[in-house]
Amino acid sequence: AFEGLSEKLSAAFKRLRSKGKLTEADVRQAMREVRLALLEADVNYKIAKQFVNDVTERAIGSAVLESLTPAQQVIKIVNEELTALMGGEQSRIRYASKPPTVILLCGLQGSGKTTHAAKLALSMKKQGKRPLLAACDVYRPAAIKQLQVVGEKAGVPVFEQGQGDPVKIAKAALHHAKDHGSDVLILDTAGRLHVDEALMDELKRIKAAVEPDEILLVVDAMTGQDAVNVASSFNEVLGIDGVILTKLDGDTRGGAALSVRAVTGKPIKFAGTGEKLDDLEPFHPERMASRILGMGDMLTLIEKAEQEVDQKKAAEMAKKLKHNAIDFNDFLESIRQMKKMGSLSSVMNMLPGVRGKVSEEQMDKGEIEMKRTEAIITSMTAYERERPESINPSRKRRIASGSGTKVEDVNRLLRNFEQTRKMMKQMGGKGKRRGRMPMLP
Ligand code: GDP
Ligand code: MG
Repeated sequence: AFEGLSEKLSAAFKRLRSKGKLTEADVRQAMREVRLALLEADVNYKIAKQFVNDVTERAIGSAVLESLTPAQQVIKIVNEELTALMGGEQSRIRYASKPPTVILLCGLQGSGKTTHAAKLALSMKKQGKRPLLAACDVYRPAAIKQLQVVGEKAGVPVFEQGQGDPVKIAKAALHHAKDHGSDVLILDTAGRLHVDEALMDELKRIKAAVEPDEILLVVDAMTGQDAVNVASSFNEVLGIDGVILTKLDGDTRGGAALSVRAVTGKPIKFAGTGEKLDDLEPFHPERMASRILGMGDMLTLIEKAEQEVDQKKAAEMAKKLKHNAIDFNDFLESIRQMKKMGSLSSVMNMLPGVRGKVSEEQMDKGEIEMKRTEAIITSMTAYERERPESINPSRKRRIASGSGTKVEDVNRLLRNFEQTRKMMKQMGGKGKRRGRMPMLP
């Protein structure tokens, strides 16, 4: 998603960067380009206007224009405002204090309700929950069958009572969930081609019957502003708690992702990024903003990589350590392994003799340092990672700006790296490190 917008914004910012010192007129010119780019991305025009006004107001302050890096400051403001536009913080599912948590999925026909019922169930199952899917789309036998098929793929039970009354089925499903120890109940409902009264009425009755903890509206990102309008209607009539934005993989513009929250006041909680059941991502406004600004979406990539980490890599690492052949890829790998095990403090607290001796503050610092290290290495090219000695001052500057850090941070990391290498050399040859935890940078 967002290809067009990314391109246009980066062109506008490139012009800004080339200027060095900025005047108010330069900022206003750039903001005109930003506004056009947003409109072309199918962002609601009121939202685009407000956005540009907000950024301009912050950017033409003397603190920005007179700073040493005014263009960077402007980009930073755009990044922050884009994040805020999409809701700021990640918005999670609110689980009921007394299970089962009831989640009602609603939306137009073809928006992806059935698929996302299963995606959601699968991701919850992976988190150790015991979800139950319920077939409340009763108008076509094929709809029930479809839910059964995806439910089976996800390894999640499906409750159905054929083509009965959807309100009664929802209630029966809730009883079934309680009786069988399911802690999450996900209701798949029928959709129509357009928002209509009969559909809303049915959803209202289901809502009244099972009192969902979360009503999630499923909308197709590819429909742009229509998706936003649908969200407004559902929110007004039914009241929704959040949105699942589907088919982001096929959406090149991004207008829905950018406007839904601002128009409806309701956050996007998840994004669907493909037809497969793992193609579901929690929606992180901050990561989306950096994706749009072409800063890459490191964290999501890292999370994906983490799921793949395996024993083989650990063994490879041990071998490299022994031969003193580590490079920055290994450094990054060890951070990712570490992160896989949990937060720094949770890992440290598991080590004998550490508990209670390291303050929370130190832990937090360590955590931040680890994130920074990760950011810096991720900003290196493959060549640089393999040959740290190639990192000259101009490369350092590029890496620092790419990772949002300072050259001194890059220098510190390079020093740490050299130290680790030296240490490895001293310990090398004894073969003692095999099977141990990978070194922390
Ligand atoms: P429903 O009518 O709302 O239940 O929609 P379905 O779950 O049946 O999905 C409609 C179509 O959209 C199916 O062909 C899905 O495979 C497809 N689909 C759903 N979510 C996504 C997604 O995130 N990305 C892509 N590319 N296709 C999706
Ligand atoms: Mg369906």
